This record gives sequence, C-alpha cells and structure tokens, in this order.
Amino acid sequence: MPTFEEAYYKIEKKNVEIKDYIDKIHYEKIYCPECLTAPLHIVRKQNVFPYYASNSKQAHLEDCQHYEDYITKKNLNKLIESKNNEDEKRLKFLINNNLQGAINLLIKNEIIENVTVENSIKKTSTNQLKISSNEYKYDRIPRVSINRLLGKKEEFIDNYLIIWGIANIESKDYERMNSTTGKKFKIKKLIFRVKENFKFSIQLSENQIKHYKELPQNSMNKGFAVFGLIKSNNGFLELKILTTEHLQYL
Ligand SMILES: [Zn+2]
Repeated sequence: MPTFEEAYYKIEKKNVEIKDYIDKIHYEKIYCPECLTAPLHIVRKQNVFPYYASNSKQAHLEDCQHYEDYITKKNLNKLIESKNNEDEKRLKFLINNNLQGAINLLIKNEIIENVTVENSIKKTSTNQLKISSNEYKYDRIPRVSINRLLGKKEEFIDNYLIIWGIANIESKDYERMNSTTGKKFKIKKLIFRVKENFKFSIQLSENQIKHYKELPQNSMNKGFAVFGLIKSNNGFLELKILTTEHLQYL
C-alpha cells in the first residue's frame, strides 16, 4: 500500500502536510500529490507517526509512480552497468516509459489547473503518448517532484531517479582547460530553479552539447522530466545524465 507525507487538497489546489491535516476540512477531500486522482486517507497508529495512504495501487493513474512496483536500486544499477544488449533494451524501455509517464502527468495536471482548454487539447494530442507495456514488465523508477527535492536531499544523493515538474531553466556556457593536456573544451550548465530558488543543475559534456536541443534563452515555467544520478557538489545538487535523451521537455 503506497504511503505519503503530503496529500493534494483539491479545493485549495495545494499540498497538505500531515501536521496541517484537519479532519473537518480535509477528510475525503485529499488525493495523491502526484496523479491527483487516487483518494488518500490519514492513518493513525499507536507509536507510529501518522501518514497518508491510498487504498490500492490501482486507484492511481497508470502514469503515476505509485501505480506499480518500484525497480530496486540494485536492479536498476545492474541494468545501467550491464553491457548486455537485452539489458540495454530493457533499461531504455524503463527510462523512456517512466519519463513519458511524468510528462503525461504534467499535461494532465496542467489541464486540471485550468490551462486554456484549446492549448491543452493541442498539447495532449501532440505530446501524450500511450505507454507501451507489452514488451517488458513496466517497473517504476523512483520519481521526485522538483518542489520536494531539497527537503529529502540526503535520501536522494548517489541514487538514480527521475526529477520532474515545472522550472525556470537557465543555460550557461563555459570553457574549461584540461590541466594535463592544456586542451580547451566546452561545457554547458543547465540551472533549474523554482521561482528564484536554485534546485539543481545538469552539466553537459562537449559530446552531450552536440545532441542537446537548446531551449529559448532562460525558459520560464517549463515542464520537464529527467533521469540521472544525483550528486552533491559542495551542498548543491547536480544531476549526472547518461545521455541527453534522458532530458525531456513538455
Ligand atoms: Zn498517484
């Protein structure tokens, strides 16, 4: 049974933490913070801090990470390190589908939040792809909303995961020099912020820059989903991506 620390309160369109839950107000009016669809309820047990839970995995939307089982960290790392062709295909399937699930939810949630209807219909027909589930078992890769990233920072460091949400994205180019060969090379830094607040960055290598399709300068409120390894650089989060294919924009 999936459990949660926050629940989406539809009437005010905001998340409610456990400490702010009030029976009179929120009872039967809270939902999964990711798909906004599965009803949640509060669970209070002796000697356990209260938490939210949904009744079943199937109450969530198929695109929600809580709909099915997670792949274990060990199995995910094994797939990433494997040179076996079948493993590579399975990994590609998992990453693509999990990223697409996040993008689909962004589209859907935007519709709920009343983006102009014409706009959403257009977006849905061009971007929302049906997840192909017949090839491999569709395990979930852990996914974290950019808004919740810093709150659980320590838990995420050195893990592969998907970060998704809406961000202001700034792109900066740098030239660096290899200290042994003296050869100059370029890097690109993508900085993800919510409002003015720094959340994480991605550094693209010279080779990745060639495959990266630049956004319009300093894109605001851009929907995205990205898969990579979370690292801490002097307390700032950096996401290492394996390929630019793992960075998708809405
Ligand atoms: Zn859900």
